[in-house]
Amino acid sequence: MQIPFINLSRQYESIRSEIDQAIQFVFEQAQFIGGSTVKKFESDFANRYSVPHCLSTGNGTDALFLILKALNIKHGDEVITPAFSCIPSSETISLVGATPVFCDVDPIYYTLNPDEVVKKITSKTKAIIAVHLFGQSADGIELKKICDANSLFLIEDCAQAHLSSQTNKLAGTFGVASAFSFYPTKNLGAYGDAGCILTHDDGLAEKMRRLANHGALAKDDHLMEGTNSRMDSLQAALLSVKLNHLEKWNSKRKEIAALYNSLLADINNLTLPAEKENTNHTFHIFSIQTASRDSLKNYLGECGIETMIHYPKGLPFTEAYKHFQHSEKEFPVTAKLQQQVLSLPVYAELTNEEVIFVAESIRQFFSTQKKSPTG
Ligand SMILES: *Cc1c(COP(=O)(O)O)cnc(C)c1O
Repeated sequence: MQIPFINLSRQYESIRSEIDQAIQFVFEQAQFIGGSTVKKFESDFANRYSVPHCLSTGNGTDALFLILKALNIKHGDEVITPAFSCIPSSETISLVGATPVFCDVDPIYYTLNPDEVVKKITSKTKAIIAVHLFGQSADGIELKKICDANSLFLIEDCAQAHLSSQTNKLAGTFGVASAFSFYPTKNLGAYGDAGCILTHDDGLAEKMRRLANHGALAKDDHLMEGTNSRMDSLQAALLSVKLNHLEKWNSKRKEIAALYNSLLADINNLTLPAEKENTNHTFHIFSIQTASRDSLKNYLGECGIETMIHYPKGLPFTEAYKHFQHSEKEFPVTAKLQQQVLSLPVYAELTNEEVIFVAESIRQFFSTQKKSPTG
């Protein structure tokens, strides 16, 4: 059996006629930037979140950048962001000239540890970026309290958390603005790059809309300089189609996660992903932890099972941030996670038979490992 980490052709086959129809509509309409399909997706997504403003962007990284820029975060300012995440949640801070201040995460839920966040606040801190990593909602309630008590902006990175929630409040509605990515492999993925921003704030929404379109809301109305970050009409049309399937796909991911968890529960030396109480985890990534991560990954590869490592290096330890001279002692959880995490295939089109095969292969690995003299 060959099990790829993700299988987007299976997903396409399951919604082929709807997708083909939407493509045809855009080509016949012959409007490729902006227009009715973009407006429709923005209103579909805003309605799903019960938020007044959804602004489409070129990708999720731009969404974060535009939020930071519109909040006037700049040189001399600090922004607290997780040490364990992917680089857009820190590089966009540097892009506006500010300094990313890394903070360690929770060892089980993989999201910002609020107790550690408090220790990182200085007189220069302007904002906190909460990343809802792997589909697990970060503690939006606690982080919002911390932000309010210290006059900081809470910015949410929801690239991996479409429709994740905490106490029935959707991730992406806790802070001043939230960034989404529709990179093809995300829970809601486009057929190319795309992203968006959600916010309740009218003034901020208008400023971000201008920044994303050369400072203009209409042609030649340049109140300021901006950039070009727009969603293609084609991506918008396809995302509107896929948005109708998102809830069902997320539920399927949850079922698969539950099946993995039940099949792997009794294996020692294996930490399974936990769903935090009162949250809805949408399992963008199903991340297990084991000290024998590299040999397990090799073994599964030989079985035909593709796995990935999110992330092989904590952000403070990457070349990009060498100049900060961070040490592993400063981020002990991240330092351990980078050596132990392994992501298993999880997507709505995965069959139970395939999930069982992955779980059986993992069981096989640990049973042969126990017998070997080196342990
Ligand atoms: C994917 C991702 C992004 C960036 O999204 P792009 O659309 O690829 O620019 C940002 N943050 C996190 C946590 C992501 O996983």
